[in-house]
Amino acid sequence: MSYDLLRSGLEAPICLTWEMTYYCNLRCVHCLSASGVRRDEELTTEEAKRLIDEWAEMKVFYINVGGGEPMSRPDFFELMDYCLDRGIGVKFSTNGTLMDEAAADWVASRDYLDVQISLDGATPETNDAIRGNGTYRRARRAMERLAERGFSFKINNVVTRQNFDQLEKMYALANRYGAQLRLTRLRPSGRGQNVWEKMRPTREQNKKLYQWLLAHPDVLTGDSFFHLSAYGQALQGMNMCGAGRIVCCVDPVGEVYACPFVLAPEFSGGNVRQPGGFAGIWRESLLFAHLREWQVGGTCETCNAYDLCHGGCMAVKHFTGRSLDSPDPDCVFGNAGEPGDARQFVPLGRKSG
Ligand code: SF4
Ligand code: SF4
Repeated sequence: MSYDLLRSGLEAPICLTWEMTYYCNLRCVHCLSASGVRRDEELTTEEAKRLIDEWAEMKVFYINVGGGEPMSRPDFFELMDYCLDRGIGVKFSTNGTLMDEAAADWVASRDYLDVQISLDGATPETNDAIRGNGTYRRARRAMERLAERGFSFKINNVVTRQNFDQLEKMYALANRYGAQLRLTRLRPSGRGQNVWEKMRPTREQNKKLYQWLLAHPDVLTGDSFFHLSAYGQALQGMNMCGAGRIVCCVDPVGEVYACPFVLAPEFSGGNVRQPGGFAGIWRESLLFAHLREWQVGGTCETCNAYDLCHGGCMAVKHFTGRSLDSPDPDCVFGNAGEPGDARQFVPLGRKSG
């Protein structure tokens, strides 16, 4: 698919995240949705099924499910089966603490189901400092349960300054289970805002990470690190910000955001409970139309690496108070704009409204 086609948006999102609940039994210090407590207005089972029906009609072929802890929803298995029965593949992200024997049996018995277990360090000390006491042991137990059933899962690791030196060990751990390692960029979203400055990888680490990713093409990244492609060779992925173009996120109360890392009112295209539902927002929201037209300007416009980096991640710029036209704060050339020049960027409402 061409860059221009992707940039202008598709009939249905390729990368649709559905955050099922804000409830979580953990309190990770970097949680992008600041999860913990369930909200009263979260979508009911019936509303969730209507949403899934809409996705099936739009021919969404795959969704990422997260939260909060999605497995904590009493209707979790019912809703996942409802997706699978309608031909929508599911990858769900979990902290692993609720993966008991019965849940592992259910996972292993389903097709088109993928599971990603979060682990942010190769040792209990490193992981538990981020995710809470005992979480390393509990995540490993979930992995063992899935591995015992011959199920091939993914391990998701948010790369931080503190766990950077454990990348090789994480890679070896994944291999030991026949699992795949996925690395994710730390973003200053949700509680991540509080820890971003002290946990974001250093410039030196980012440079090493780029080389490490080139040397480990089997490691997944979800296009998290495309800003590092400006070092020279494109990393795997589409190397662009897909927000509102190919990416979007439905939060637990039905708000549709341009990206799971920008859960802020100015990046919501509307709510699935409104007339027109999800499809109306995807096709007609002024915000998404604007994002599909938008090109990063400023310093990036004249940068030689623009075609590799496209100015970096919108979410990181937004939550560090930068103009979306300014370079990514982790710009490999050190061009990051100064905080304090954020501006109103997005129009609200519908094209037809
Ligand atoms: S805002 Fe960042 S995380 Fe979201 S789609 Fe754009 S680049 Fe990816
Ligand atoms: S100046 Fe902009 S386009 Fe160039 S490397 Fe930095 S962030 Fe990327």
